Amino acid sequence: MVFGGNTTCLQLESELIPELLIVDCGTGLRNLGNKLHASRSGNKGRIFITHPHWDHLQGFPFFKPFYDAESWFRVYLPPQDGAGCKEILQGHMSNTFFPVTIDMLEADMNCETFHPGKINFEGFSVDYMWAKHTVQTAMYKFEIGGKVIVFAPDNELPIDDEPSTKKFIADFQEFVANADVLIHDAQFNFKQHQKRQGWGHSCWENVIDKTKGLGIGKLLLTHHDPDSSDKYLAELDKRVKNEFGTEFEEISFVKEGQDMLLPIE
Ligand SMILES: [Zn+2]
Ligand SMILES: [Zn+2]
Repeated sequence: MVFGGNTTCLQLESELIPELLIVDCGTGLRNLGNKLHASRSGNKGRIFITHPHWDHLQGFPFFKPFYDAESWFRVYLPPQDGAGCKEILQGHMSNTFFPVTIDMLEADMNCETFHPGKINFEGFSVDYMWAKHTVQTAMYKFEIGGKVIVFAPDNELPIDDEPSTKKFIADFQEFVANADVLIHDAQFNFKQHQKRQGWGHSCWENVIDKTKGLGIGKLLLTHHDPDSSDKYLAELDKRVKNEFGTEFEEISFVKEGQDMLLPIE
């Protein structure tokens, strides 16, 4: 109820960007769509999806602006072993799983397979590196008016000492260094992670260990384990603030509906 019953969905807003900018389509997308639909018709936006796991797509069919003929959306997804964005979404919304297929959505829609590399749009740019996850998953880096926001909700920072791990951590650190905001996977604690290595998620202890000292402004820990209670996460939130509050401008476990203001000088 406090730290998030909905699955992953993030909205970025800036007066520099003329369109909606949404990242991931977990169940949180439904609330966002209801809010947008109630305030206006003809929503226009770009949606970046990190990967097609259910918890990042389940809100997609329930996004009201998709059912508005005046809306316009472009959806981006990294390639999935040869399958493109349209095929993945068509599969997700095939009539075995949902009564409305993607071609029945009324908005002007286009699904684009987004290969690694930086793209510039009006008011922002987006780049990504591959996460360590169980499918091809992006860690997106957005730059808006000189502010850098990295979004990595599903990424395993391994706890072993293999040479490939060292290389991955070095590349990751280079990618996230000096970000104003890093929103990162912290599903497990260290003890849980030891039993779940290779599941594609990180433990909060290792995320802090690998990101401190890199000039990161705010570290936001997300993708909580479904079995983590509000009480448990509130205690952890307090603990990381006490122990690591000087390492970052802000460090916290992300809450449901959390807003953050990032002034552009
Ligand atoms: Zn995932
Ligand atoms: Zn996930």
